[in-house]
Amino acid sequence: MPDLSITDPQIKEAIQKEIDRQSSHLELIASENWVTDAVLEALGSPLNNKYAEGYSGNRYYGGCSVIDEVEDLANQRVQELFGCTYSNVQPHSGSQANEAVYYALLKPGDTVLGMDLNGGGHLTHGSKANISGSYYNFYSYGIDENGLIDYDEILRLAKEVKPKLIVAGASSYPREIDFKRLREIADEVGALLMVDMAHISGLVAAGLHQSPIPYADVVTSTTHKTLRGPRGGMILSSKENNEKYNFNKAVFPGLQGGPFMHVIAAKAVCFKEALQDDFKDYQKQIVKNAKALAEGLKKRGMNLVSGGTDNHLILIDLRDSEITGKELEQRLDEVHLTTNKNTVAGDTRPITQTSGLRIGTPAVTTRGLKEEEMDKIADWIVRVFEDEKNIPQVKEEVMELCKEFPLPH
Ligand SMILES: *Cc1c(COP(=O)(O)O)cnc(C)c1O
Repeated sequence: MPDLSITDPQIKEAIQKEIDRQSSHLELIASENWVTDAVLEALGSPLNNKYAEGYSGNRYYGGCSVIDEVEDLANQRVQELFGCTYSNVQPHSGSQANEAVYYALLKPGDTVLGMDLNGGGHLTHGSKANISGSYYNFYSYGIDENGLIDYDEILRLAKEVKPKLIVAGASSYPREIDFKRLREIADEVGALLMVDMAHISGLVAAGLHQSPIPYADVVTSTTHKTLRGPRGGMILSSKENNEKYNFNKAVFPGLQGGPFMHVIAAKAVCFKEALQDDFKDYQKQIVKNAKALAEGLKKRGMNLVSGGTDNHLILIDLRDSEITGKELEQRLDEVHLTTNKNTVAGDTRPITQTSGLRIGTPAVTTRGLKEEEMDKIADWIVRVFEDEKNIPQVKEEVMELCKEFPLPH
């Protein structure tokens, strides 16, 4: 078959341009990563061509025997990785995993308590702009003035609004979340507990963050953040809970049609990689790098939400600064440091500007950067923050480092 460069030179060129961009920039977006060539090979495989609505051994199409093997392997591996007895690897994304769980557990109008967007929650945790916030009656909890989750406040709110479900997990919370405490709160008010561990699932797999599996009724995650797999979602729980709530039925036929079998194969590859010892070393380095970057920023005078980090991300607090999150993001873009603006608790700026900047270490850690380079990154961020005139010089230094650390395979 002719190469893509012949059949579609425009897309071929766009792909090459993106590869060039990725290699000449440092990726500091906390939700991004680089997958291995093995994951990419599974993703680019002809498994894409197969329709397989249903579940292993019970499909709505013929010719699914090989597909069943692939999905069985993915399920066995992810259950071993997280120590659970039920999994569904079909959700196309983290958002769809969440919507499927809501569909399984709730009726429209039911009350749910989730973390608000400003405190670090996700759109699918009840934002008005999201289906979750329009179909269900979401109340939200935030973080206190120190940037920390206030569990007593969650208990107080839960007693007041009597949620059927409490949703925990966040996209920009730099500290460890106490799932055991949340279980106690849920039990005290008779609520179910769902944990969305999208950002931290790699840390959980490596034993570096408290696992939600023993405490939550159901856990959702993406597979492409710290876990370093293909873009996608999953649901984890126990066999008993799946019998009771039927998460399988909520995913298909509730929310989705045919599963993406090439993605499920790539998830299986990712889970196998995550079961290896060197994956633990990788996750440990992510945390060490985040701590080093946080220290580097603090000693140069930057304010951080909660004063630091326990995990893979840092949130710079710009509430006292003239410079908004958006402006700092743009300046850093110019020097090839890719980050994203983020709202912080008590933010008075509009969501299009924000007073926060989120920085994560999973991708640069995959690229091989260590504590020494984190201190350099902190220095660059602060120089660009302090004076726009430093942009050309910092850009040169960033690009030099990019050459020293080629993209991983
Ligand atoms: C990223 C994220 C999601 C959504 O993942 P998508 O795959 O982008 O839909 C859900 N929840 C949390 C907490 C996240 O950080």
